[in-house]
Amino acid sequence: MAFDLAGQEQPRYEQSNADVLLWQTRYRVVLALLAAGVAVGLRTVGWLSVSAVAEARLGAAMADWLIAAVAAVYVAVVLWLHAHVQRSRRASRALATLMMVGDLLLVFVLVFVLASPRSYDRALLVALFALQLTHVYFGRGPALLMLAATATGYLFIVDVAIRTTGDGSWADALFTLLIFGVGAGLVTVVQSHIHERLSRLLDMFARAEDGDFTATYDVASDVRPDAITHVGRAYNRMRAHLADIVETDPLSGCLNRRGFEQQFRRELARAARAQVELAIIDVDLDHFKQINDTYGHLTGDQVITEAGELLRANARAGDIVARTGGEEFAILAPGTGLAGAQHLALRIVEAFRRREFAGARRIPVTASVGVVAETITDEAVHADLLARADEALYAAKRSGRNRVVIWTPGLAAMRASAGEPAIR
Ligand code: GH3
Ligand code: MG
Ligand code: MG
Repeated sequence: MAFDLAGQEQPRYEQSNADVLLWQTRYRVVLALLAAGVAVGLRTVGWLSVSAVAEARLGAAMADWLIAAVAAVYVAVVLWLHAHVQRSRRASRALATLMMVGDLLLVFVLVFVLASPRSYDRALLVALFALQLTHVYFGRGPALLMLAATATGYLFIVDVAIRTTGDGSWADALFTLLIFGVGAGLVTVVQSHIHERLSRLLDMFARAEDGDFTATYDVASDVRPDAITHVGRAYNRMRAHLADIVETDPLSGCLNRRGFEQQFRRELARAARAQVELAIIDVDLDHFKQINDTYGHLTGDQVITEAGELLRANARAGDIVARTGGEEFAILAPGTGLAGAQHLALRIVEAFRRREFAGARRIPVTASVGVVAETITDEAVHADLLARADEALYAAKRSGRNRVVIWTPGLAAMRASAGEPAIR
C-alpha cells in the first residue's frame, strides 16, 4: 500500500494518527492543567483580573468556574480519547481534528476570560502554532478545518466583546484576521509542499521495501535544496547498492530470483508496448547431485559460481542472467527471436561441453536448455512464458540431457508420446 501523508484515509494513516494522538496526550493534560491552574491561582491571589467582557457577561466568580470546568472537561475528553485510541490503535482524521478543535476551544475560553479584546489576537498566535502542528501530523484537510475553526472562534469572541462592552472594532478584528489568514495560508502552502515531497520519498522507500528499486528521487525538481533533498540524494546513492544486495545472488554473481522477476516484468511490459520479441532460456546443470556427492558441496558451489560466469560471458549485452534455483539459471533476452535465442542456447551448451570446472579437479559439466521466444502482445503471457521455457527444459532432460529444446505448441503432446524433439 502506498503511503499518503496528506491524502485519503488509509489504515496505515489511521495508525500513525493514533500514535501521534497517544504521545500528545501527556502534553495536552499537563498544558491544560498548568494553564488553568496558573490562571485560577493568579486570580485567587488577586494578581490577575478577569477581562471586563467576561466580568460583564459572567461575573468574576463564574469566570473562574468556567476556566476550571472547561479545563476539567477538556482533560476528561483527552483521557477518554486516549483510552479509546489505545484500545483500537486507530484514529480517524475526524477524531484527530476533533481533538485539535478541543485545543482551540480551551485556548479561546482562556483568552476570552482573561484577555481584553485588544489582546484577542493572542489566541490567533497560539492557533497558528496549533495549525502548524496539525498540518505536520495530520495533513492539509484537518489543518484547513482548524483554520476555519480559529476564524470562527476569533470572530465569536470579538462579536461578544463588541456587543457586551463595545470594546474593540470590527475593522481591527477583520484586519487582524486577514493578516492571520495570509500567514496561516503561507504556512499551509509550504507545509503541503513539504508533505508532498515527503510522500514521494516515502513511496520510494515503500517500493524499495517490495524489492523495486526503479524509482529515483528527482533532485532536479527541488528548486531550493533542503533536508528532504539531501535524504533523496542519499537514497539515490544507496539505491544501486541496495538493489545489488537484494537482487544479486552472491554465489553465482547473477541476479537472484527476485531480481529476475523484477527484470522480467519490466522487459515484458516494454516488449508488450513495442510488440517485439522476447526470449527466455532456461538452463539446468545435468546430474548436479552427482557432482555434489562425488566432490562435495563446496566444489559443487564452485561449479555454480563458474557456471554463472560462463553464462554471463556467453550472454550478449542487454541479456539478463539469473540464478533462479539451486543449479538452475535463466537468461532473459529482450528483442530476441527464435533464431537468436536458439543460437545463444546452442552456444551455451557448447561452452559447457568445452569447459572443465572446479580448477584442478577438471570436472566435466553439461547443461540442458529449454528455449521459448515469442512476440509479446500482452503482459498477461507472464506465467505462460515461464511455463513454456520450463516445459522445453523438461523435454531436454527427458530426451537425454546436454541439449537444447525449443518450445513449440505441440511440445507437451510430443512429450506424452515420448518422441522428444531436441537440438543438439
Ligand atoms: P538433473 O540432470 O535431472 O537436473 O539432475 P540433478 O542432479 O542436477 O537435479 P536434482 O534436482 O536432482 O538435484 C539438484 C542438486 O543441486 C541437488 C542439490 O543438492 C544441488 N544444489 C542445489 N543448490 C545448490 C547449491 O547452492 N550448492 C550446491 N553445492 N549444490 C546445490
Ligand atoms: Mg540439474
Ligand atoms: Mg534442477
